Amino acid sequence: MASNPYNGKELPPMLMVDDVIVHMDIVTEYFCCDISKCQGRCCEEGDAGAPVTLDEVAYIENQLDRIWPEMSAQAQAVIDRQGVAYTDPEGELVTSIIGSCDCCFRGQKGCLLPKRPISCHLYPIREKKLGSLTGINYHRWDICKDAVALGKERNIRVYQFLKEPLIRRFGEEWYRELEVVAQELGLV
Ligand code: SF4
Repeated sequence: MASNPYNGKELPPMLMVDDVIVHMDIVTEYFCCDISKCQGRCCEEGDAGAPVTLDEVAYIENQLDRIWPEMSAQAQAVIDRQGVAYTDPEGELVTSIIGSCDCCFRGQKGCLLPKRPISCHLYPIREKKLGSLTGINYHRWDICKDAVALGKERNIRVYQFLKEPLIRRFGEEWYRELEVVAQELGLV
């Protein structure tokens, strides 16, 4: 695999932290959401819903009565027709959307769900199953360019900005291990 130049140092393109393959961009790139600039457009643009597990589908179904009055008529119609999730063309279970991209659970002030699906919480990190391993990548999207600028200004890397969802997904010990690897590489 090709190496990744960083501040004159040659870094490997991936890190192995426990059984998770971490793309190096997650520890070298800067990111800090700037919602005043982007208006949270990641919930309304794109080409599919957010990936969800079966447990998360059950959780969303349990929340429906409570959040229903706050949902738009269009979102209610989609859910009446197909439920809270569907299978996208790649065979992945994802949240229902209005039209081609707008999340059904997006309210006026952000997500209506008290606990967002982990794939939303982790964004711009995206997870992929690689056999028995899990791979995580940093997904670049033009609509997040202000988050990159703010991350640089505040000196916050992708993995630091996403500390809470990374701990939610992989645990505290795993996150500490990632921090140690980043320190050993001289990145922080
Ligand atoms: S992930 Fe991107 S679009 Fe979504 S809130 Fe953050 S900066 Fe905005």
